[in-house]
Amino acid sequence: LPIEEFRRYAAQLIDWIAEYLAHPERFPVVPRVRPGDVAAQLPPAPPARGESLADVLADVERVIVPGTTHWNHPGFFAYFSISSSIPGILGELLAAALDVNAMLWKTGPAATELEQVALDWLRQLMGLGPGWFGVVNDTASISTLLALAAAREAKPALAIRARGMAGRADLPTLRVYCSAHAHSSVDKAAITLGLGHENVVKIGVDDAFRMRVDLLEQAMERDRAAGMLPLCVVATIGTTSTTSIDPVGEIAELCRSEDVWLHVDGAYGGIAAVVPELHDLMDGVHLADSLVVNPHKWLFTPVDCSAFYTRQPEVLKRAFSLVPEYLVTREQDEVVNLMDYGVQLGRRFRALKLWMVIRAFGAEGLAERIRWHVQLAQEFAGWVRDEPGWELCAPHPLSLVCFRHAPPGTSEAEREALNARVMHEVNASGEAFLSHTKLGDRYVLRLAIGNIRTDRRHVARAWELLRAATAKSPAAGPG
Ligand code: PLP
Repeated sequence: LPIEEFRRYAAQLIDWIAEYLAHPERFPVVPRVRPGDVAAQLPPAPPARGESLADVLADVERVIVPGTTHWNHPGFFAYFSISSSIPGILGELLAAALDVNAMLWKTGPAATELEQVALDWLRQLMGLGPGWFGVVNDTASISTLLALAAAREAKPALAIRARGMAGRADLPTLRVYCSAHAHSSVDKAAITLGLGHENVVKIGVDDAFRMRVDLLEQAMERDRAAGMLPLCVVATIGTTSTTSIDPVGEIAELCRSEDVWLHVDGAYGGIAAVVPELHDLMDGVHLADSLVVNPHKWLFTPVDCSAFYTRQPEVLKRAFSLVPEYLVTREQDEVVNLMDYGVQLGRRFRALKLWMVIRAFGAEGLAERIRWHVQLAQEFAGWVRDEPGWELCAPHPLSLVCFRHAPPGTSEAEREALNARVMHEVNASGEAFLSHTKLGDRYVLRLAIGNIRTDRRHVARAWELLRAATAKSPAAGPG
């Protein structure tokens, strides 16, 4: 492609993106497509000859955009809401253009060093003290997998790196603990590492869905008495269902006395610590061994970008470093080679977008937006609290509210059917997108605020849609 063509199409595409970002509500947040609709509009085989980019971009507009769930839509309140900011988009574009593979310092000196700098800035923004080493991964799931692998490596006597786990009569059963509300990535990590799903012990929670430390202590004691070895505890700052916050400080004390690795999953909630008055979210984290937070969730950085920190980088390196001859470099003993800190060899230049986001917003700009999201969520919670027939279903310390319509006299089964129908109706509007979870036997709706373009009017509109949907409900009142 001649470079002049690049200039032309890039300008056209940037114009399109600018329009898209200026009018993020132009498209329904959830696309009106059915499974198979998108693929059916595309040829089943690749073109034999190159096609013009004009034709390709026309198909993006005709097929891809209408088949897209618009995470950038300000009415996106499902799961954990995310958003790409302008500096983040530009960083992603530039990273693709530079196309650095920072597997070694030598193959990407700036990418390697910027990753260290950007993660150290983020650490400071969250009010965490020094002594942490950070690497950027694609997702929190991978960061947690690495944490569990490091926890295993932190017990060299087990010799798992050299001898594996299969057929080892000398090896005690290794146990991982997390709350019943921890993310499924903990289970997946244990499954992937061969620790066994059964060995992820789910600890009960208190009324506010926080891990109960007394139950954790009892579980470890019981396991030790049965000859098992407590390996790792995963505490969560901001659980997926309700954003409950485990008592990290107390858990850390216990882990220290039990010689157990503590990994903190702050994938979503940890990011809120960039607001100075929310620094206490990080209480006790200085005693943990590792931590993950996801800038791609609540720090306006495009997916993917997960910040993984450990206070024991040498253990992580011991778990993963393997240097075939072709990757030996002169300076390897004096630099960070990112390939040493995880499974993959190749590394995208993800730190660029994060660094650009932090610089462009500044500490105050980031804090201001996250503070606003928390405030909006508190306002929404107030509307729910004050509306007869509705109820809040969990504490809402951050920007997620769990709630439901619970007309008096209805059974749990009726409430589930009612709220599921209400949610589907609201989602079908194209103006808002909510998701649900279960708290015990209660089916509850979740409204998560985290999109940079979400304002009060979007939250108010979601509330209006919710109430309108229940007004039609046969269970909503007499008659
Ligand atoms: N941890 C928590 C608390 C989460 O809520 C999520 C996803 O929502 C994850 C981990 C997984 O994140 P990722 O998609 O980056 O793997």
